[in-house]
Amino acid sequence: MRIIVVGNGMAGARLVSEVRARDKESKVTVFGAETWQPYNRVLLSNVLAGSSGPDQVRLLDPAWYGEHGVEAVLGTPVVQIDRETRTVIAEDGRRVPYDVLVLATGSRAIVPPIPGVERAIPFRTLDDCQAILAASRTSSKAVVIGGGLLGIEAARGLAGRGLPVTLLHLAGHLMERQLDAEAGLVLGETLAGLGVEIRTGVSAAEVLPEGVRLADGTLVEADLVVLACGVRPETELAAQAGLEVRRGVVVDDELRTDDPAIFAIGECAEHDGVVYGLVAPAWEQAAVVADVITGAAKDARYRGSRLVTRLKAKSVELAAMGETHLTEEHAEVVRFSHRARGTYRKLVIREGRLVGAILLGESAAVGTLTQLFDRGGPLPGDRAGLLFPGVSGAAVADSPVRMPDSAKVCQCNNVTKGQIRACWESGARDVTAVAAATRATTGCGTCRDAVEGIVGWLCEQEGVSA
Ligand SMILES: Cc1cc2nc3c(=O)[nH]c(=O)nc-3n(C[C@H](O)[C@H](O)[C@H](O)COP(=O)(O)OP(=O)(O)OC[C@H]3O[C@@H](n4cnc5c(N)ncnc54)[C@H](O)[C@@H]3O)c2cc1C
Repeated sequence: MRIIVVGNGMAGARLVSEVRARDKESKVTVFGAETWQPYNRVLLSNVLAGSSGPDQVRLLDPAWYGEHGVEAVLGTPVVQIDRETRTVIAEDGRRVPYDVLVLATGSRAIVPPIPGVERAIPFRTLDDCQAILAASRTSSKAVVIGGGLLGIEAARGLAGRGLPVTLLHLAGHLMERQLDAEAGLVLGETLAGLGVEIRTGVSAAEVLPEGVRLADGTLVEADLVVLACGVRPETELAAQAGLEVRRGVVVDDELRTDDPAIFAIGECAEHDGVVYGLVAPAWEQAAVVADVITGAAKDARYRGSRLVTRLKAKSVELAAMGETHLTEEHAEVVRFSHRARGTYRKLVIREGRLVGAILLGESAAVGTLTQLFDRGGPLPGDRAGLLFPGVSGAAVADSPVRMPDSAKVCQCNNVTKGQIRACWESGARDVTAVAAATRATTGCGTCRDAVEGIVGWLCEQEGVSA
């Protein structure tokens, strides 16, 4: 079988390794438009903030391809799919036939059509990240346009490097898709305390050499302007080939498009009306496609994902999940707000189950609430105990002892406590060994402390019983 993967980003790179784990025989070719070896895009925020170097975010070792008989054609976009002859045509003119084609073309950054926008740098790729870092070395003031997850991470990263930063956001509050207005306000205050000036409800009208002109005529001074205005699924290739495209390339539960020989995964795919913008669904989809096309598990199906968004910005703890915007009219809402401490916690409960939560500021409850949200199981009656674990006799939420084996610890790679325990039982004694065996911690990395806690607790138990 000849398998071609178009796109060597987080979904495409994962797919080739999942295929090779199941099938050593098929001919696998992956095309990547970027010249880089595949890297962990999620960790670009850490590169911008200086907590990771560019060489620490690699996903696959360059030698891996040769060792596993996978042909990687990098810096060479595929420009056309000929469905009649089942051939892809690359920019350099090469034509490569396929039996199975997987599109993993991701998204591209949205660049607002405003005058002077070419002076600004989008934040999507490692090249972008390096361009921002290079510019920041000679800049005295930065503006980030876009107050979603990425814009906040970029602004915090640049502020952490000592650059005064203004964050401009069109909506009335930050991260309006994940947060309610009060959480957005508390987050803004926390960021302001870390050197990021927040301006919400403003529209950038022009990028000038001296800064950004707002729609009301005000000039926000800056000599570095970063764009984080959202992404658009990269669907052009699929559309040109006549595949069904809505917001993304439409796929079924096998991740198959309306052409049975062509699949789509990751941010370019639309499953059940949803286009995901996080890595966990992309990696889950890669595993399902690998099962289906290699025949390792022909009945594997993707049924959609429940998402947890976690901000990776130093000194700002934020997790948001599910239907955070529901009000008391439609759900039971439990809320605690302490603005002076940068704390905001909200639970949204329907029919006794957690359907949404916001946890801003340090909280021991994140792990437990994430599990309750994931499993959709009934909640204990003590709501305060859920928001304040450990207080007044309530269970210490994230204790590895209390966590059931089915609890998902690594959201990005879908790794449970039970799998970590099994890995420990077969000899792994630290996080590095657990990561090598299960991939836990290798996505966004926010579960590292939890994995460390479980391994430490198992080691302690071993000491006790020895
Ligand atoms: C700064 C930043 C921080 C993020 N933080 C998080 C986070 O904390 N948690 C989280 O879950 N997600 C996060 N994300 C989102 C996450 O990175 C994406 O969901 C993930 O990368 C999607 O994987 P993908 O393979 O679908 O797309 P990509 O990783 O974008 O890969 C697509 C690849 O396909 C290539 N390509 C496109 N067209 C062609 C073509 N015609 N021929 C060949 N190659 C092509 C592109 O060049 C690209 O390399 C973040 C993203 C960014 C930019």
